Amino acid sequence: MNVTDLLRSLALDPADLKPAPQRPANAQDASERLGPEPLPCAACGTPARSTRIIDTPDHGRRWLDLCLDCMLATADRCRPTVPLAATLAVLRDAAEAVGVTVRVLVDPPQGA
Ligand SMILES: [Zn+2]
Repeated sequence: MNVTDLLRSLALDPADLKPAPQRPANAQDASERLGPEPLPCAACGTPARSTRIIDTPDHGRRWLDLCLDCMLATADRCRPTVPLAATLAVLRDAAEAVGVTVRVLVDPPQGA
């Protein structure tokens, strides 16, 4: 699924997403966006647990901050050859088992 279809599946207008820098996202970006008071999920408004930069056709690079449920609901659509949803579910279960909060930064390679 391309970015346009991903945004459509989340009922998001790329014009409503915050502009992102031209450089790749890094751990500091994730910390700033998902820190102690995380930004709201772009799709549902609950606290975001992942962030990434998407390159939209008409609006350029934009931040896509998602809660865990919205991220998992769309993860396999973005990269069907990688079992990302299953991997993240295991990570979530492990984090819950030890009582820690997990911040996830998904940064697909160029052209993905
Ligand atoms: Zn959400």
